Amino acid sequence: MKITVLGTGTSQGVPVIACNCPVCQSADSRDNRLRCSILVEAGGTVLLVDAGPDFRQQMLRYQVTDLDAVLLTHEHADHIFGLDDIRSFNWVRKAPMDIWCERRVADNLKTIFRYAFAEIKYPGTPQMELIDVDGAPFRVQNIEVIPIRLYHHKLPVFGFRFGKFAYLTDFSRIEPDELAKLAGIEVLIICALRKKSHISHLNLAEALDLIEQIAPKKTYLTHMSHEMGFHAELMNELPDGVEPAYDGLVMKI
Ligand SMILES: [Zn+2]
Ligand SMILES: [Zn+2]
Ligand SMILES: [Zn+2]
Repeated sequence: MKITVLGTGTSQGVPVIACNCPVCQSADSRDNRLRCSILVEAGGTVLLVDAGPDFRQQMLRYQVTDLDAVLLTHEHADHIFGLDDIRSFNWVRKAPMDIWCERRVADNLKTIFRYAFAEIKYPGTPQMELIDVDGAPFRVQNIEVIPIRLYHHKLPVFGFRFGKFAYLTDFSRIEPDELAKLAGIEVLIICALRKKSHISHLNLAEALDLIEQIAPKKTYLTHMSHEMGFHAELMNELPDGVEPAYDGLVMKI
């Protein structure tokens, strides 16, 4: 299984528009963070998790020429607002794109992208086939997916486990039953917004606490704000086995 990290920034990305803080001015490319997304590839199947506003740029930058499906964690703008550009893949495949998400997210997509679900569509609108994720494990071609229920303050969202790898973002709480579904994973990508606490995201201390409980061999942090500081400094502050992720990170599991 190959994982490509396409974006590691929080909702505004880093640099933040009109911010002149030192992190936003950094010359280190690892301090440039597009909105969160990953690509999961195994056995010829290619899955995208989330399609935020940087989706187009990410597909071009990492030369992604085909996708078999998109999995959505939740309906916040930084995770879905790139979906209009899915039409490029509709043309490549001559088929709608399968979008796996829970019902509430699907209902939101139908409102936000109303033109794509209209009875009479304008030519060239994106075509999305919404497939319900109800919490039970499912398979997309050659990839087995185990949804992990997480809470983004009060909003239920999904993380996903793929074999020995799990991707958990945009949450502040996980119940013990769901934590148990992560047993035996080797690599984890988990959100850590910043050092200060936040109502709907884990901060660094909370993420580290959870990492200790899950105990993967290797963990990468994602969904980071400019307030988290410089990538290079964070590398030195984190315990063994934990590193900040960066855009373009590729791993084979
Ligand atoms: Zn987010
Ligand atoms: Zn800044
Ligand atoms: Zn969110």
